[in-house]
Amino acid sequence: MNIIQDLADYLEQIAPLDLQESYDNSGLIIGNTNWIIKNVLVALDVTEPVIDEAIELGCNVIVSHHPLIFKGLKRISDQNHLDRGLIKAIKNDIAIYAIHTNYDNVLHGVNAMIAEKIGLENCSILDPKRKMLKKLYTFIPVAHYDKVSKAVFEAGAGHIGNYSETGFSSAGTGSFKGNEASNPAYGKKGMLEKVEEIKFETIFPANIERKVISALLKAHPYEEVAFDILSLDNAYSKVGSGMVGSLKKPMEEMAFLKMLKKVLGTGAVRYTPLRGKPVQKVAICGGAGRFLLNNAIAAGADVFVSADFKYHDFFDADNKIVVADVGHYESEQFTRDLLAKEIRQKFPIIAALISKVNTNPIKYL
Ligand SMILES: [Zn+2]
Repeated sequence: MNIIQDLADYLEQIAPLDLQESYDNSGLIIGNTNWIIKNVLVALDVTEPVIDEAIELGCNVIVSHHPLIFKGLKRISDQNHLDRGLIKAIKNDIAIYAIHTNYDNVLHGVNAMIAEKIGLENCSILDPKRKMLKKLYTFIPVAHYDKVSKAVFEAGAGHIGNYSETGFSSAGTGSFKGNEASNPAYGKKGMLEKVEEIKFETIFPANIERKVISALLKAHPYEEVAFDILSLDNAYSKVGSGMVGSLKKPMEEMAFLKMLKKVLGTGAVRYTPLRGKPVQKVAICGGAGRFLLNNAIAAGADVFVSADFKYHDFFDADNKIVVADVGHYESEQFTRDLLAKEIRQKFPIIAALISKVNTNPIKYL
């Protein structure tokens, strides 16, 4: 049996809550972390029909991409669809968990599904985030160097691109004098002790700091472990907005747009003037992606596939790129499949069902 906290822990391992944007509200929105999970329904939006579907299918958890509650509520009445959904979910003991911009900001999230559907290869984050990495410096007595560095690496530190266990070490001498209450691993209390140590440095994603420090303290022989943590300004290639990749073979622009329409099942692709160039490099951003247009141009993408562009935004393509607005729902619809797959893999005894309700509020004539 699994409880909601187990599911939340797993989803936060895939897409840590720290990675969500400041305006977002990802995480457990309604529910009790100790509830035992019956079945899970995965949806893009939590609407009343989706809650009805959950009740019908015996699902007491809805995992949705878009959070049901975005901002503060002053009243909950029957006067709008959001409130009615909240009331219905609470009355029926249905938990609601949102995995939104934190899922947009990881390599294997929302954009990875779009990339897979349209056949992009060699994908990387279009706008990697800064200040997501930290550096650890610590000082280890020579005899314990292997054990301590291994523990820190096993906690998740030391990954750069395709490399693991990356670090740097330099030799030096550490000194300390313990007081009467101390119990030094080397030397005696009240005596100045000098020990041959290795200064060890490595990097880690900011969200695993607690894990890394706890592994360090556990493996290190000293009573008082000296260490420094520094925040880095480096861009972190594994976290950020949008994605850019290449098609296996170049395509003619109109053929590419038609492929988009078909693969994403959208009622219309709104696009900017074609440039008469083949399409090979493609930037994508599920949902509203106007803020990444300049990144897409700078990355040398031929087309930017996204949604929610306004009239004036289209002018900014400026013949430097072709913008293809495929619709918000259409660009993110496959997120459900990915989430359901992830949940099934981790919790094989739980049925993770994909909502059959089309929550797209936009219809095409
Ligand atoms: Zn969205």
